[in-house]
Amino acid sequence: MPAVSADDLLTFAKIEVPTSASSRPVLSVSTAPAGVEGEGFPVRRAFAGVPSSQLDPFVHMDQMGEVEYAPGEPRGTPWHPHRGFETVTYMIAGTFQHQDSIGGGGLITGGDTQWMTAGGGILHIERPPDDLVASGGLFHGIQLWVNLPARDKLIAPRYQDIGRRQIVRLASADGGALVRVIAGQVAGHNGPGVTHTPIALVHVTMAAGARLELPWPPDFNGLVYVLGGQGSVGSDAAPVRTGQLAVLGRGDTILVAADQHQEVRTSSLDVLVLGGQPIGEPVVAYGPFVMNTKAEIAQAFEDYQQGRFGSVPAGSLT
Ligand code: MN
Repeated sequence: MPAVSADDLLTFAKIEVPTSASSRPVLSVSTAPAGVEGEGFPVRRAFAGVPSSQLDPFVHMDQMGEVEYAPGEPRGTPWHPHRGFETVTYMIAGTFQHQDSIGGGGLITGGDTQWMTAGGGILHIERPPDDLVASGGLFHGIQLWVNLPARDKLIAPRYQDIGRRQIVRLASADGGALVRVIAGQVAGHNGPGVTHTPIALVHVTMAAGARLELPWPPDFNGLVYVLGGQGSVGSDAAPVRTGQLAVLGRGDTILVAADQHQEVRTSSLDVLVLGGQPIGEPVVAYGPFVMNTKAEIAQAFEDYQQGRFGSVPAGSLT
């Protein structure tokens, strides 16, 4: 996890919370099962077992790693299609190389985000660069799927590269938590990511014993996922630890507190706080496609097989 010094935190705007704010309660805490993605990299399926109505407008989230690869071990995905949603890849440690069929792509590394709107159809590949495959090393990130409403499912694909320096950094009122706003508006500060469906995505690193009260739009759902460490969430201080997701109920703020005792290796609590305006439409997610009906999924497979998702550019990564 990225280290945060007290000196750093002093330079960031502090998050103010109105005294009348009501803190959201925790509705459930679930534990992400381990899985394997692409050509064999380890993930935690953050949203497994949670009703899609509570995740809306999100569909799926993987925590990639955290893993320390031996030389030759790093893995990625082969070329594959998507339709009907947006993928957000946020790298915390290590590097991923990306290319897509509309000419988007680049390297993303510690703190960078890549935002891909699949819309009507795109092909892409994500893999560690050759030098990282050779060397091995630490690899940690997330990939989040943000749904598109029916009216936007077939829009033109788009690619956004969000460098780590564009991320808006804030501090908790107690100065013990670093709050990185990747997308959306938090406490009056706008993050760089632009989505069709309004969302907020925040990465928080908290010193042992720190407490954060985060203003959260009342019309957004609220989720807290623990990347590493242990603490408590919500007005009822539900305990959470690495790989657990808390679903919050209604209210104005999201409360997160880091335990005094943390895992020895990191010494901090690292969480993602995310939410958005629910789309409120039927969700049929199958493989790489997220549509409203089964017929639209069948159409997506047919269009992909007929080559209507474009083609892999000449000279691309393999
Ligand atoms: Mn993909």
